[in-house]
Amino acid sequence: QLVLGIESSCDETAAAVVADGRDVLSNVVFSQAAEHAKFGGVVPEVAGRIHLDSIAPAIQQALDGAGIGLADLSAVAVTARPGLIGSLLVGLSAAKAISWTRGLPLVAVDHIEAHVYAATMESQADVRFPCIALVVSGGHTALYSVGSPRRMERIATTLDDAAGEAFDKVAWMLGLPYPGGPAISKLAESGNPEAIRFPRYTPKTPPGGSGGPRPIGFSFSGLKTAVLYHIRGGDALNPTPAPEAIEDRADIAASFEEAVADTLVTQTLRAAEQAGIDQVLVAGGVACNRRLRALMASRAEKKGIRSFFPSPAYCTDNAVMIAGLGWQHFHAGDVADLHLDAAPR
Ligand code: ATP
Ligand code: MG
Ligand code: FE
Repeated sequence: QLVLGIESSCDETAAAVVADGRDVLSNVVFSQAAEHAKFGGVVPEVAGRIHLDSIAPAIQQALDGAGIGLADLSAVAVTARPGLIGSLLVGLSAAKAISWTRGLPLVAVDHIEAHVYAATMESQADVRFPCIALVVSGGHTALYSVGSPRRMERIATTLDDAAGEAFDKVAWMLGLPYPGGPAISKLAESGNPEAIRFPRYTPKTPPGGSGGPRPIGFSFSGLKTAVLYHIRGGDALNPTPAPEAIEDRADIAASFEEAVADTLVTQTLRAAEQAGIDQVLVAGGVACNRRLRALMASRAEKKGIRSFFPSPAYCTDNAVMIAGLGWQHFHAGDVADLHLDAAPR
């Protein structure tokens, strides 16, 4: 059964054709990153307008790439939440038009659940449920208890920034382009991750609450501020220097990346151990990060926990994950109708 997936929740316009929730026939991603780079982040109005121009070509390319036509599809799946409302509506309208004109079932997909599905898609034979999933993306940093591809429950989240957002903001401070994750990671290769000991957030045990399980959660605003103060020469009252005047940019990048990876791995493995679960999935754009992948793999292995990551192309936004999870919903009879609405969160 062939499913067309459509994704337009943020700044990627994507379409893909996937067979039976697993076999990728085509994967088209038009990134708008270059258009948003001059603003240092995604501008919602700009994103919506570019999606409008890109959505039909993306869908056509996905069908052509798969060597099929609309008549060959079993269903059309689309990201319905969460995301920028104006962006979501572009993909949703396209999906509804195809569904209505072709009489095809319309399937609503949650973008975050789809990121998690991406981590299981390539290793379906190995992944066992329940497992713990860490979603680390531009807008989310949270842990989930995953009962099945279609059932997941959030068990912890960030108090403030998402990890990807922290990468993007620190990149901005260092004069690196948006998206910040890949740029920081590249600069970090020539830096020393132990040069600066940036803070690692740990949630506080509530007063009198000792004895129970340790609380789990994330926060990145303190780390971000620590980087800013370091750049100011250790005195918060100093002015912020221009990026080219910062001497230890590579060490800052490497030490920041290390702090983020350490925090993510510690909290994720704690959640798995507390739940008595020996499999963790890592998904979302930050799951591309090589240091995170290496640190998670080695520390998990020491605890007898298996870790799974999607291929980098399926970590960042794509429509393969939408078509994949869409097929799971379709297969279970979970289809939407033309009243389907987009939900920003
Ligand atoms: P959400 O999924 O929460 O709605 P989003 O769709 O914008 O947000 P993704 O596309 O999943 O997010 O991920 C984008 C984020 O991933 C950006 O913040 C980017 O900096 C980060 N990122 C991408 N590659 C890397 C990398 N190699 N290292 C660290 N971060 C990375
Ligand atoms: Mg993006
Ligand atoms: Fe995403």
